[in-house]
Amino acid sequence: MARINQNYDKLAAGYLFPEIARRARAFAEQHPGVELLRLGIGDTTLPLTPTVVAGLRAGAERLGSAESYTGYGDYEGERWMRAAIASVYRERGVELELSEIFVSDGAKGDSGNIQSIFSADAVVAVQDPAYPVYVDTSVMAGRTGPYDSVRGQYQGIVYMPCTEQNGFFPEVPAGKMDLVYLCSPNNPTGAVATHDQLASFVEYARAREAVILFDAAYSAFIRDPSLPQSIYEVPGAKSCAIEINSFSKSAGFTGVRLGWAVVPKELVAEDCPPGKLNAMWYRRQSTFFNGPSNVVQAGGAAALSPEGRAECRAMVDEYLANARIIREGLTRAGLACFGGTNAPYVWARTPGGMSSWDFFDLLLREAHVVTTPGSGFGPSGEGYIRLSSFGLRRDTERAVASIQSTLGKA
Ligand code: PLP
Repeated sequence: MARINQNYDKLAAGYLFPEIARRARAFAEQHPGVELLRLGIGDTTLPLTPTVVAGLRAGAERLGSAESYTGYGDYEGERWMRAAIASVYRERGVELELSEIFVSDGAKGDSGNIQSIFSADAVVAVQDPAYPVYVDTSVMAGRTGPYDSVRGQYQGIVYMPCTEQNGFFPEVPAGKMDLVYLCSPNNPTGAVATHDQLASFVEYARAREAVILFDAAYSAFIRDPSLPQSIYEVPGAKSCAIEINSFSKSAGFTGVRLGWAVVPKELVAEDCPPGKLNAMWYRRQSTFFNGPSNVVQAGGAAALSPEGRAECRAMVDEYLANARIIREGLTRAGLACFGGTNAPYVWARTPGGMSSWDFFDLLLREAHVVTTPGSGFGPSGEGYIRLSSFGLRRDTERAVASIQSTLGKA
């Protein structure tokens, strides 16, 4: 008799974004003809750049002739793809061996799957609020107790509050943590960790043989040269950190799908010498994954060519300009806003102590703007909403104007 993985029954409500979609759909059905403006989900809207399209096309063309056709590639991605990624790290002063880079179909899968090479009783720590995948995959993997609906937390997870008081980056908490998820630039708060802030966690992890799972999916949005784009810019981080990144937001690959994880050879854990975690991730990937699409990797390599990088940078600039429009516009409307600089997300405090979902509903109903309620990212997100800069410029401007007029009337 088959039995289910009962950890799934612990999962609290539905995943955040389907609930937002449900409410937006219900509103649209009740108000036909009203156009909804979307500053909610972090999906990209700008088209792929010409160099990337040419790369994808060339990749497809190669498959159309017997001489250049290739089937399965390396489980960890083509060598040329990994070399292109390594050269971007080199510019930041980080040297990686190609066997330390594992190209994947995106950062979402990697950020949950990476847990499989760690012990079942590993204590997971997350920034609060956080990208929901870190917590939900920990629940599915049985690394938590039940959900405590009063505290809005799963038992067994260490929540590290990110608040206005600490500039949305936590102090290293006292107590045990084994796997520490950090995300910078942060989804949802838009906060970017400084070198010193990352160094404080590297110091903790090295002293306690903990492992940092560093999600750098938004690193392309960092324009301030003093801010680290990779955790490996912090000395010693290779012995205690895995880094995950993506082409989704830097090159518009949310639908195309391409990302990578770096598992350094130097990385150690309490019961394993250098090299073992790297070998284990190779073993995991080669068992569950047949490597990323070869056509997509051709597009990814094009995105990392000099022309591709210039075009993609201009695309990210466009989103950064949206973020500024949102941040400045909402500040003028009287909201306290955070993030949105070196980051695609603006984190706005709700007015008058309103709950996140109440403010979400108000903006949906009155301004016809879809946002993301901060409480969906963890208990410390209560009292905030997240606004995404990934919309088109015209829609972003209209949404900001509509919020301003709604709040002006309130
Ligand atoms: N990590 C963070 C912090 C994200 O916000 C997202 C997507 O929104 C992802 C990872 C997913 O990236 P990918 O599209 O590469 O799976």
